[in-house]
Amino acid sequence: MSNSFEKRMTSQVKVGSVLIGGNAPISVQSMTNVDTRDTPLVLDQIRRLKEAGCEIVRLAIPDIEAAKAIAAIKKSEKQIPIVADIHFDYRLALECLNNGIDKIRINPGNIGDMDRVKQVVTASKERGIPIRIGVNAGSLEKELLAKFGGPSSQAMVESALGHVKILEDLNFVDTVISLKASDVSMTIEAYRLLASKCSYPLHVGVTEAGTVKSGTIKSAIGIGTLLAEGIGDTIRVSLTSAPELEVTTGISILKALGLRKGGVEIISCPTCGRCQIDLIEIAEQVEVALANCKKEIKIAIMGCGVNGPGEAKEADIGIAGGAGTAILFRKGEIIRKVPQSDLVFELLKEIENF
Ligand code: SF4
Repeated sequence: MSNSFEKRMTSQVKVGSVLIGGNAPISVQSMTNVDTRDTPLVLDQIRRLKEAGCEIVRLAIPDIEAAKAIAAIKKSEKQIPIVADIHFDYRLALECLNNGIDKIRINPGNIGDMDRVKQVVTASKERGIPIRIGVNAGSLEKELLAKFGGPSSQAMVESALGHVKILEDLNFVDTVISLKASDVSMTIEAYRLLASKCSYPLHVGVTEAGTVKSGTIKSAIGIGTLLAEGIGDTIRVSLTSAPELEVTTGISILKALGLRKGGVEIISCPTCGRCQIDLIEIAEQVEVALANCKKEIKIAIMGCGVNGPGEAKEADIGIAGGAGTAILFRKGEIIRKVPQSDLVFELLKEIENF
C-alpha cells in the first residue's frame, strides 16, 4: 500500500538507539504504570512493552528514590531507550542524567531560577540527552489562562514556545515538544499551530483519552488526523488500561495510515445476510492466535462469494465463506474447500507454513 502523506520536515534528536524527527520512522512509545522504585517490576513491564512493539518507554520520576532507581534499570535494560518524566524538581533531572537516562521530559519554565535550568541544560548537553517539553492543557500557566480565557490551542502553543525560548537562550535545541489536551479538536488545532511556528520534532498524543474504547477512538482520530497531515514524529496512545495495549493501538494507527509496514494485517468483512459461517468467531480466534505473530502477511477473512474471492485473492492467505464451508486461498490460488469446524485450524496451519 502506498501512502500520500508527506511528513513535515523536522529537526532530529537521538534518544538512545532511536531517532525522533527528520526522516526517522514514527516511533511508538508508552509509559510504565508500576512504582519506578520497584526495579524488578519495572523491568518486567518494560519487557512486556518491548514484546508488544514499544520503541521508547517513559517512567514517572516522582521522587529522588525513583531517580536513583534509574541506575539499576539502565544497567539491566540496555535495548529500549528510557525517558524520565519529571515535574518541577531539577534535582530529579540531574540524578536521572547522572544515572544514564536517554531523554528527560521537563518543562524548563517550571524548574525555578535560571541557575537550576542551566544545571539541567548543561548536564543534558554534555551527555547529548534531548529534552521534551510537555505542555498539558490541564496545567497551563495562570497568565496564559487569563490571557486566553482558559485552556486553548493558542495558550498551549504560547506556553510551549515560552519553554522553547528558555532552552534556545541557553543554546539548547535538542528538543521535542508535545501539546496534550483531552479534547481532540483542541489537540489537533494546537499541533497544527505549533507545526506552523517551529520545526522541532513533535511527540503527538491525546492525553487522558479514557478507557480502551473511547481512548482508542479519540487517539485514532486525534493522532491519525495529525499524522495524515504529516505532523508527528513519535506517538503515544494514552489509555486507562495496560500500557501494552497503548503500544499495539499506536502501531495499529500507524498501520492503518500505511506509515508502518510489516506484521499481520487482517482484512475481514462485517458479515451480512449472505454469510453462512460463523465468521465473527473465526476472525476473533485468528486475531487472538496471531496477536504476537511477527510474520509479514496479509490475511482475508470473508463471509461469502460476493467480495470474498476478490479480497481473498489479493491477500497472502484468505478464505471466502460458503454454506458451512469456506474456500481457502493462497496467493490468489484456490487450495481447497474446508468445513467450518476445521477453518481456524486450517487457516492457522496455512499461515504458519507461509
Ligand atoms: Fe456480506 Fe459476503 Fe460482503 Fe461479507 S463478503 S459482508 S458476507 S457480501
